[in-house]
Amino acid sequence: MERLAGIFPRLWSLKSLALGCYLLSQGMLLAQNLTVIGGTSFQKQLTACIERVTAEDLDRLPGLDHSMTIVILEHERFLQVKDSFRAYRTKLAFSNPSTRRIYLSSDVFKNLDTALRCIPHELGHFVTQSVYEDHAEIAAGTIRKRAHEVCTRPAVPDPPRTLSSQASSLRPPIGTE
Ligand SMILES: [Zn+2]
Repeated sequence: MERLAGIFPRLWSLKSLALGCYLLSQGMLLAQNLTVIGGTSFQKQLTACIERVTAEDLDRLPGLDHSMTIVILEHERFLQVKDSFRAYRTKLAFSNPSTRRIYLSSDVFKNLDTALRCIPHELGHFVTQSVYEDHAEIAAGTIRKRAHEVCTRPAVPDPPRTLSSQASSLRPPIGTE
């Protein structure tokens, strides 16, 4: 499981005034200013869907800034970036709470299980405001369950198959008439 490698700063524990809950926007609007950088449209869509699951919890947290940026990097680039953050122990994902960023390797999206393991875990750190893996995992369990219900059905379709490959398999039988 991905680790934070001690990059959570002390500021993380500072409490600011809570301004109460913000009502979530309906529909496709992203709550609390999510930005997803990089990745394919499918990766972006799945990431945004999983993040939306946590929006209500994140908006409830103290502080004014509830924005979130998720950066999806090709795996080679991810390895360089994580080393620059000294996140040596992580393999696929890590978080930087001071900039409210989550960094994901594109390998997170190799399959749905990995995506549903890594993304909720990182979000779990933000929801619990904790550097501890077990705290993050408790929150991640709830996020995973909801993400599985909400994000793995038609709202997030499978990567598109080309029409031509479908068309060739639908070729009419030959020579029967
Ligand atoms: Zn972690």
